[in-house]
Amino acid sequence: MDYAEHVADLVGSTPLVKLNALGGGLSTPILSKIEYFNPGGSVKDRIALRMIEAAEESGELRAGGTIVEPTSGNTGVGLAMVAQRKGYRCVFVCPDKVSEDKRNVLEAYGAEVVVCPTAVPPEHAESYYSVSDRLAEQEGYWKPNQYNNSANPESHYNTTGPEIWEQTEGRITHFVAGIGTGGTISGAGRYLKDVSDGRVRIVGADPEGSVYSGGKGRPYLVEGVGEDFWPTTYDHDICDEIIAVSDADSFGMTRQLAHEEALLVGGSCGMAVAAALRLAERTGPDDVIVVLLPDGGRGYLTKVFNDSWMASYGFLSPDHSGGSVGDVL
Ligand code: PMP
Repeated sequence: MDYAEHVADLVGSTPLVKLNALGGGLSTPILSKIEYFNPGGSVKDRIALRMIEAAEESGELRAGGTIVEPTSGNTGVGLAMVAQRKGYRCVFVCPDKVSEDKRNVLEAYGAEVVVCPTAVPPEHAESYYSVSDRLAEQEGYWKPNQYNNSANPESHYNTTGPEIWEQTEGRITHFVAGIGTGGTISGAGRYLKDVSDGRVRIVGADPEGSVYSGGKGRPYLVEGVGEDFWPTTYDHDICDEIIAVSDADSFGMTRQLAHEEALLVGGSCGMAVAAALRLAERTGPDDVIVVLLPDGGRGYLTKVFNDSWMASYGFLSPDHSGGSVGDVL
């Protein structure tokens, strides 16, 4: 019989899918790595598994322990999934900009969720970083700290990078990914540089206003990417280039991905694809661009895929609508 012992054993080995309509007319193929095929629905399953295993190996996480982490949802799902198998309790701390759908998902997996204000600096007592730090001081609690845990980029060095290299038979020339903790781009990017003797170019995609693209941490709406501080999981020597993308372009492209490629994905995916398309204006027929799409779109139905929400921010211009019932086509 062909079955997995546990759903957590199915993390990784996600497919590459070529962008057709959106990549049409370009000489360079753009291949998207679809991370919603992970069992928890996002790229974060990879780091959850490796961070928990590493903490068990080091003795930081012991039987009956509680995992506490500030997470925008995806890391929480991955941690909750692995924790369930291994018998750990989970408490997650989220900023209030995170969609209610995402929080409900965490609770469905049996986790407890604490919601904190987004519009305060990280050092503020009510920030989701501070609140999770206070919780983590309690006996039996372990904080994976995805922003400062080498198992995060390591999981991408060990899995995401090698998968992309094998799937493209070593023909990848450019890797594009959004930057949140920096784990994906630093780990997969480092692997792709190592295996290609530095030939593969690594291109970060970042929301306008975030520190990675030279901003000061100005608020933006796209979730899961961009920062207002420099996490240690981000390797400063990896990115050859960083492309800043506006919320309007990120969300517009996210809707186009659903409408034209049948890829119902999250806002950070639209951001990464917008950056990949800008890059493809400068690349040629011998190049192969791989762009990583971190999660699926179902957690964003009341935001990116809701016309009223989009219109309330002025994002619903004809260029960005991705089509709607009212369009005259
Ligand atoms: N997109 C989404 C939706 C995410 O949750 C994350 C993780 N914060 C990222 C992109 C960025 O990935 P990383 O943390 O590896 O830089």
